Amino acid sequence: MASALADAGIASTVLESAPDRELADPAEDGREIALTHRGMSILQQLGAWQDLPPQAISPLRQARVFNGSASDSLHFADPRSDLGALVPNHWLRRIAWLGLQRRPLVTLRCEARVAALSLDSGSATLTLADGERLSAPLVIAADSRFSTLRRLAGIGAEMRDFGRSVLLARIEHELPHQDQALECFHHGHTMAWLPLGGISPKLSSLVLTLPTDQAELQRGWSEAQWLDWVQQHSQQRLGRLTLAGPRHHYPLVAAYAHRFAARRFALVGDAAVGMHPVTAHGYNFGLYGVQRLTAELAGNRDKLDADVPLQRYSTGHRRDTWPIYQGTNAVVKLFTDERRPARLLRQGVLRLAEHLPPLKAVIAHQLTSKPRGLAA
Ligand SMILES: Cc1cc2nc3c(=O)[nH]c(=O)nc-3n(C[C@H](O)[C@H](O)[C@H](O)COP(=O)(O)OP(=O)(O)OC[C@H]3O[C@@H](n4cnc5c(N)ncnc54)[C@H](O)[C@@H]3O)c2cc1C
Repeated sequence: MASALADAGIASTVLESAPDRELADPAEDGREIALTHRGMSILQQLGAWQDLPPQAISPLRQARVFNGSASDSLHFADPRSDLGALVPNHWLRRIAWLGLQRRPLVTLRCEARVAALSLDSGSATLTLADGERLSAPLVIAADSRFSTLRRLAGIGAEMRDFGRSVLLARIEHELPHQDQALECFHHGHTMAWLPLGGISPKLSSLVLTLPTDQAELQRGWSEAQWLDWVQQHSQQRLGRLTLAGPRHHYPLVAAYAHRFAARRFALVGDAAVGMHPVTAHGYNFGLYGVQRLTAELAGNRDKLDADVPLQRYSTGHRRDTWPIYQGTNAVVKLFTDERRPARLLRQGVLRLAEHLPPLKAVIAHQLTSKPRGLAA
């Protein structure tokens, strides 16, 4: 956000609670972020994409969705171009930090925890945990789906706890992934395999979604015991498996702010919309928000606090995100319901989509942000 504002000639100060060394060299956190074409293009415009080394970019050429042990599947591919790309989250954090280093209009202040906020017609004032006060014409909050600033600004949010958690790990496999993502909705758990072709044709990230009590149980297992379980439930789709990195764990909670702006205040990133990862949109939505808010503010450089650009951002960002937010939650509901009618319904949905090219093209467009008709 700060880099995009700087490119539009707007100066900002970034207040970040983490220390500078954690931003400069972020630890691997297991997340492989699927980027849409629109997301990649925003990173390119910011000059951030160009900072990624080749091994950090894994092409996503096809995707296949399975329901339970049924052998038929919904298949997405486009012979003319990739569906998107996967980039490790720690690399996205690193290039964001690098971007700030070369922009003199940005001041980065680390180990600064925002504790209080006051918004009035004259300015926005932040109080840091050490008591220091800072004022600015506009505050933009990007402090996670559990945003403290959102609450301090009096903006509520729909919070949805799915009662599920994901376990993630990199896994080497005997058969090549062919740059294909697999999404397998089994009874009681979901297994997604994300191909890491930037590193190896036989390395994927496994994203295992489980009811939280089972995830907690599995976290207590040894690596060998866990790998055995994964091997047994993988239906040999990738052959023999070997663990290739540490396991990571995330509870699944979605958040959707009731509005994205107030007087002298705006929300971006997960603070605005925190998604369930199954449709891989959270980070992309963050980028769309950055692009839209910057465009609105750049046209009103002399009055950053004006209500009109903030309201236009709020409305536009809702239009970009609300249908996919609702659609994602509906997919999660349908594909985690273990009752027989739901199982039959999802099999029907997958078959219908597979055999109805226009429907498939609409889904592909939503997931990849490519023009309609390209990715079915
Ligand atoms: C398992 C998993 C898989 C995912 N896969 C995808 C995917 O494939 N595609 C996709 O698009 N998205 C994906 N996402 C979502 C994506 O990771 C998030 O949308 C994105 O990381 C959110 O970034 P953010 O900067 O808004 O928030 P965060 O990354 O949460 O960053 C918030 C920052 O604010 C700082 N902070 C917090 N509170 C304060 C405070 N009071 N004062 C100062 N600083 C503060 C924190 O230190 C942190 O640096 C996935 C998420 C998960 C969990």
